[in-house]
Parts: sequence; C-alpha cells; structure tokens
Amino acid sequence: MISALLPNYARADLAFERGEGAWLWTVDGRRFLDFGSGIATASLGHGHPHLSKAIAEQAAKVMHVSNLYRIPQAEKLAARLVEATFADSVFFCNSGAEANEGMIKMMRRAMSDSGKPERFRFITFEGAFHGRTLATLAATGNAKYLEGFGPVVEGFDQVPFNNMNAVRNAIGAATCGIIVEPVQGEGGVRPADMQFLRDLRAVCDEYGLILGMDEVQTGMGRTGKLFAHEWAGITPDVMSAAKGIGGGFPLGAVLAKEQFAKALKPGTHGTTFGGNPLACAAGNAVLDVILAPGFLEGVQRKGAMMRAGLEQIARDFPTVFEDVRGLGLLLGLKCAMPQGEVQAACVAQGLMAITAGDNVLRLAPPLVVTESDIEQGLAMLRRAAEACTGKTQAAAQ
Ligand SMILES: *Cc1c(COP(=O)(O)O)cnc(C)c1O
Repeated sequence: MISALLPNYARADLAFERGEGAWLWTVDGRRFLDFGSGIATASLGHGHPHLSKAIAEQAAKVMHVSNLYRIPQAEKLAARLVEATFADSVFFCNSGAEANEGMIKMMRRAMSDSGKPERFRFITFEGAFHGRTLATLAATGNAKYLEGFGPVVEGFDQVPFNNMNAVRNAIGAATCGIIVEPVQGEGGVRPADMQFLRDLRAVCDEYGLILGMDEVQTGMGRTGKLFAHEWAGITPDVMSAAKGIGGGFPLGAVLAKEQFAKALKPGTHGTTFGGNPLACAAGNAVLDVILAPGFLEGVQRKGAMMRAGLEQIARDFPTVFEDVRGLGLLLGLKCAMPQGEVQAACVAQGLMAITAGDNVLRLAPPLVVTESDIEQGLAMLRRAAEACTGKTQAAAQ
C-alpha cells in the first residue's frame, strides 16, 4: 500500500528534531554536521537567532494579506535587493521553479512588447537544472525528468555548456534569450568559464537577446559574492533567486532591469503567497546577516579553506575522488566510485553531504559555518574516504 506521504523521494532514514548553526540532532539524539544545508537553502544554518526571531515576531503580527494590498516588508526587501544588485525592480514568489517561470514569462513578454512576438525561443545548456514545472523542465531538458509528462513545452534549445560556437550556431530569428546558471548546481557543481559568461553577455548585446541568469542556487552569497555573475564582471538583464534567499523559509524572486521588468504590468503575472509579510520578514533578516560588513569575505575565506582541504583529500584518495570543483561554499568532489557509496560513508561518520549530476558529491555548508566546523567536516570526509578505500581494496582482491 502506498505511504500516506507520497513516496516520490528516495529519503534517507534520518529525521531531525533541532539544529544549531551547521549541526543537526536527530529525534533519537544523534548529531550530524550539515554540509548540504537542505540543498543550499538553510544559508544561515539552523536555529539562527536573528532569523527565528524575525519570523516569530512577524508571525505574531500578520503573516499574509495577499498582493491586493501594499506589503511594507516586501517593499523594503525589494529596495535593498535593488540597491545591492544590477536590478531596478523585484517580483517575489515562493520557489526556484516559480522564479524561473516568472523570468521566462518576463523575457517573452518584454520581447513581445518590443514588437518581436515571433522571438520566443530560449537557448539553455546541457547539464542545466531550472526546476520541475512544465516550462522549467523543458528549459532543463533532462530526458529522465521529462519522460511521461506529455508534450515538452515548446521553445527551448539546448546546447553544450561553456561552448560559445554552439551558442552562436543556435541563435536564430526566433531566439528571445539565453538562460544560464553561473555554476551548474544539480548538474554537478560545474562552473561556467568566466569568459563564457562575458561572451554570453556580448552575444546577447550583439543580437538583441535577453540574458537571463538562474542564480537560484548560486545567489545570496553562496559563492562569496552576493550573486555569482559578479565574479565575471557582467550583469544579466533578468535573474532568478530562491533557495538561500529566505534561509529555509520558502521565498523566490525575479530581479530585472527596468526595460524588462516593466513588461509585467498589472494582470500579466501574479501569485497568491508570493512576497507575503512573513516570507519577506525572513528575507530581510537573511539580508541583514549576508550584507553585514565582512560576511561575504568570510564566505570567500571559508570557501578557499575548505577547497584546499578537499584538494588535499582528493590527492590522498585518488581511488575515491577525481577532482574538486566549484566556487565559494558551493563545492563538488567528482567521485571515482559511485557517489552514493561515498555519501553513505560520510553519513556513517556524521557528515551530511548531497549528491549532484556527473557522479559528484556536493558540499554546500551553511554560509555561517565556522572554521572549526570545516576542520571537523574535512576530518569526517577523510575518515569516510578511508572507509571507501578499504572497500575498493577489498573489491580489487
Ligand atoms: C533548485 C533549483 C531550481 C528549482 O528550485 P525549486 O525551489 O526546487 O523550485 C532552479 N534552478 C536552480 C539553479 C536550482 O538549483
């Protein structure tokens, strides 16, 4: 008989009761170091006092009123995001897929409003992940996720990642824009070449295309800049954010330059929950922490420290790990053996890591992780690799 909770996930048999910083305790009292952050989402870790207080205080006042009314918490959060980024205006929603849907609709509508409704197609990339709704699945283009879900939403042309010739060849009279992740998260923690991002900007300018950046996973400080495209020294035209933006509270956003944002006039797009007082109180509290002086530099420093430790472990265990990749605190270890076995060995040592495509073990600790946490995590990973090596040697004999 089917379980009451729909069994669409392959869940690990772990249930957590509470957390503090990068640590979580199970209902039966075992302690784990969380280097997955609920898929790069609990950016301030668990039980963060400033975030929990902001949510509790707002919940006691007013949680939800709908977008029929002004929402001061949303106005404030939007103004702060505009101040801190390339964007002139922000639309709030509830998830990454919903942010990408909003971004796709904004790009199409802006192109249509500019007198070119025939330009509705998007160039996206192999290995991308943009979400699980019908349009974002089409943008993702992964055959495994699309199977059995009926006709694929029309208008997405997939080309190899980091390949400018392929991009240029795919541009046609119907192309509206390009949608890219600065680091492919689900696809295997694969960073875009910085020059590739600059070339995408240039090709969009050359052909009058709209550059859409999916920063759902890479944004909100994850790579050590507020948004990862800043590393390339370029700005997109529109951008999606979610995951870390609410620190674990569901919140998504579309950030855009005025020229594109103005396409979504009253009645063209909307959401019931999106940007409600509670979600935006969470978003403002997260931003208080991330924008505090020195915080992002700390993410860069801790990312570099963790990367150096991972590189040493990869060198010491070549039968377990092939290489280290990523940016800031979004790091991946390409595995030389099945990633699931390495992940299980980590859990046995008390370390929670997540997997990604391309046989990669993904590490995305909370941005508030301490240097001592990182040292402990690296020690657990080393013991996990030792256990895996024991197994690979046994298998070879
Ligand atoms: C997780 C993710 C999404 C989808 O976000 P949901 O909140 O699960 O809908 C979209 N794009 C990227 C890059 C992601 O990492």
